[in-house]
Amino acid sequence: MIVMKFGGSSVESASAIERVAGIVRRVVARNPVVVVSAMGKTTQQLLNMGEEAAAGKKERALESLRTLRQMHEREIGALLPASGESEVRQILDGHFGEMGELLEQLSAEGEFTPESVDALSSYGERLSSRLIALVFSNVGMNAAHVDARCVVLTDARHKAATPLYPQTYARARDKILPLISQGKVSVLGGFIGATESGVTTTLGRGGSDFSAAIIGAGIGAEEIQIWTDVDGVMTCDPKLVPEARRVKTISFAEAAELAYFGAKVLHPSTLVPAIEKNIPVVVLNSRRPEIAGTRIVAEAVPCSNVIKAISCKRGIYIVNMRSTRMLMAHGFLNRIFEIFSRAETAVDMLASSEVSVSLTIDDPARLTEICQALREFSDVSVEKDQAIVCIVGDNLRDTPGVAARTFGALQGINIRMISQGASLLNLGFVVAARDAEKTVKLLHQEFFRCADPTVFD
Ligand code: ASP
Ligand code: MG
Repeated sequence: MIVMKFGGSSVESASAIERVAGIVRRVVARNPVVVVSAMGKTTQQLLNMGEEAAAGKKERALESLRTLRQMHEREIGALLPASGESEVRQILDGHFGEMGELLEQLSAEGEFTPESVDALSSYGERLSSRLIALVFSNVGMNAAHVDARCVVLTDARHKAATPLYPQTYARARDKILPLISQGKVSVLGGFIGATESGVTTTLGRGGSDFSAAIIGAGIGAEEIQIWTDVDGVMTCDPKLVPEARRVKTISFAEAAELAYFGAKVLHPSTLVPAIEKNIPVVVLNSRRPEIAGTRIVAEAVPCSNVIKAISCKRGIYIVNMRSTRMLMAHGFLNRIFEIFSRAETAVDMLASSEVSVSLTIDDPARLTEICQALREFSDVSVEKDQAIVCIVGDNLRDTPGVAARTFGALQGINIRMISQGASLLNLGFVVAARDAEKTVKLLHQEFFRCADPTVFD
């Protein structure tokens, strides 16, 4: 059994879905279970509509809803013969009718609550999974749609629900294994779940990867494939460095470090259920299925390069706090963290000195309120337009001289903060965003001039 997850861009159009059908068809002997994202940018569009409706722009929201329907109709219609049309129309009428009602309701209430956010945004995956199951059947696959909300049971934390694992795993086995024994390819929507009482929830943006891992862990899949629009994990962003290489194998721990610090390939929590059950995760490109992708496994394979990849996350803010009075007093850090925690703002990196603490955040939504609270006991300054650059690799643990090589390669670039030690696999630092590209280029030259062919393509 394998789980194959296809992201939004892999199912964005008729031709993309046709490719997906071809990819799945070739491996039916491995008993695939398919998890799909919403088509293209559907989720974001639904969220925009909800905002508009709640802000009194109902007509605009309903207009966008019509456009979204046309997109689904056009792309799916192109894949089905006329005889399949009535079923598609039925599915579209039902789902878009409900979405229309929901928008009416949001506009009447003037509020887009987290519960409504989940209700509305869930339709992207509910639709794509139904429609793609239909397309699969149409090309002769024995496909069955499974409503993911009957499988993924979650708590009620809307917009970022946590699955209740034992129940979810039991449901995955009960619902999916019998279909597999009947030779059926199950098709589920990612991203969505439901509470015990049946209220629709979502796992957070990008959550379809997570769904795939949860379902894979539940049924005991031998492999979880994440099909996307890149060739796999790369040594760095190929847009910054065209010479970026594909990383053929990487460990869970290395991949998680990369994901946290900006590599866009995987949702970090994806890895948790897979790690627990020791199921390899493979990242693959649905536009170039012949490329072997990146295999993410429990243990790092031996590699003659010190690092596996460089990640870069822009849009970072440094918050500096200085307090001669307080810093050495115990409880100071505690007080700082409490402020960020109350503002639900995650801290990425931290550095401290005798009288000051600097930390970074990537979400400035509540920065004003944070600074106000910090000013009660320290001098505060904020620097925006920063970037966190990280080098990641299992060999960092026991290779001396990596910091010297790193900073030696970066002469002339002003390093604003450094963090090493918290994770043995990661050396991270902050530079101005305008220096980020050059930084990554220089590091790539330094660390990948010779790339070990067993690990890099
Ligand atoms: N459709 C959802 C999103 O855009 C989930 C996903 O694609 O992973 O965030
Ligand atoms: Mg994604």
